[in-house]
Amino acid sequence: MRGRDAILVNTPDIELWPGGILRARGNRDARALARARAVLRRKRDGALLAAELPEGLLPLVPRLARESGIDAALDALAHRPRAGTRPGIDVVPVLPPTRLHDRLAQLGIDGEAYAEATGLPLQPEPAWLAFAGHDRYRRALWLRADAARGWRHLVAAAARDGVVLEAVSGYRSHDYQAGIFERKLARGLAVADILAVNAAPGWSEHHSGRAVDISAPGQPPAEESFEATPAFAWLQAEAAGFGFSLSYPRDNPHGIVYEPWHWRYDGPAGTDCDRRRLRLH
Ligand SMILES: [Zn+2]
Repeated sequence: MRGRDAILVNTPDIELWPGGILRARGNRDARALARARAVLRRKRDGALLAAELPEGLLPLVPRLARESGIDAALDALAHRPRAGTRPGIDVVPVLPPTRLHDRLAQLGIDGEAYAEATGLPLQPEPAWLAFAGHDRYRRALWLRADAARGWRHLVAAAARDGVVLEAVSGYRSHDYQAGIFERKLARGLAVADILAVNAAPGWSEHHSGRAVDISAPGQPPAEESFEATPAFAWLQAEAAGFGFSLSYPRDNPHGIVYEPWHWRYDGPAGTDCDRRRLRLH
């Protein structure tokens, strides 16, 4: 993997991961992945579809050509930025949410009614994401490029003050969120009950690549008890200076439960000086 320059290229159904990050279950796939320059991963369930090897594309599923969205993914693979280069980070284009309407219909969710009831904005997915380090489970943490940079600065500043911040969750796709609903529906939960704890696919702030769920060593993930930690006290005092704010404070107007762990990057106070610095970076 090419460290902090690694990027994840996003297409409607399939993600293009850089080589060296994803692990395979079987030996054959493990050998291929070890040599892969890029890996195609189905967003819906995380299945590994193909590995791009120096000698060509190796399918990892029987009917790769029939895979939904494969043409767009192969096109993106052919045109993706070369190693060591990446797009500018000021403006990251987003994907049109073309599949979202069908996904919501399949799940029995009325998107317009949900948006109206919660007042939440639709969150399109960025066309690409930057590697922002690892989360507490040693998984790759992907964020929009500016948020990834902001996150690294936040973690470093906290560390200088003796505070360890751990990422629990960063970017996730519409399809991934839909998968959460599918699994819960299969277990017999009702849509309304799931919507009480999970944002509807398309409306989670995590889709934007700007939200990070934060925890601290020894703390459970996504629990209100995080509020009582030194890490939370540090964030309350310092995070705004790094462009991060709490998205869902107590009694927020969206009717979302208090989430002291969920922080969103909005950019450094919006000065021209900062923007210039970002461009030069
Ligand atoms: Zn969150």
